[in-house]
Amino acid sequence: MSKLQSRINTWIFDLDNTLYSADSGIFQQVHDLMGKYVSSYLNISIDEAKKIQRSYYKEHGTTLRGMMDNHGVNPDHFLAEVHKLDYSIVGPNHQLNKELKKLSGRKIIYTNANMQHALSVLDRLELSNFFDEIFDIKMANYVPKPEIKPYEEIIKKYNLNPNSSAMFDDIAKNLVPAKNVGFTSIWIDAGYENFSDDIKSSKKFLDFTTTNLHLFLEKVNKGNI
Ligand SMILES: [Mg+2]
Repeated sequence: MSKLQSRINTWIFDLDNTLYSADSGIFQQVHDLMGKYVSSYLNISIDEAKKIQRSYYKEHGTTLRGMMDNHGVNPDHFLAEVHKLDYSIVGPNHQLNKELKKLSGRKIIYTNANMQHALSVLDRLELSNFFDEIFDIKMANYVPKPEIKPYEEIIKKYNLNPNSSAMFDDIAKNLVPAKNVGFTSIWIDAGYENFSDDIKSSKKFLDFTTTNLHLFLEKVNKGNI
């Protein structure tokens, strides 16, 4: 197989826990705000809300999708409320930014979060206006990864050749449809257990695994991978 930089012209990046670290605390904030939202919307305790949140995340891909399907929640309101975050705890990774800037080709953000969240995070990462496209959950008609439909949508919308596209994600099962549509898949092993992930059955769909995106891109840029 030829080197990545010679055959890939489009790089698709997940945002949260891919472009910045899982231990930033942002994910915990979103998680807590979702719990509060579900609790007040359904008029149940926080503990019960957390259980529902967990099962929707697992069965519907996102808590939002479960809340939409089962309770008719307004997605834009939900997303606005659960992303009222303290973004000051996220900061730039200069080594990663350097390698991202060296990488030649089109760069796309593909996130299950909303546009405002993506823009806020990218601002904190000092990557505002860097990516060519941002594909958010609204553009996916609120159909989250790992359902295959939004992947097909991205290919159509941005006129991608899947064989020359690569996708990065910290959730292994999000790379199963990526591989199935023809993308090269790169799993960011963030070293934590995501309760909804299924690493074992996703393994054979992963072309590459790395624990450090910056080092991986450095190798790509040097032509070592
Ligand atoms: Mg992620």
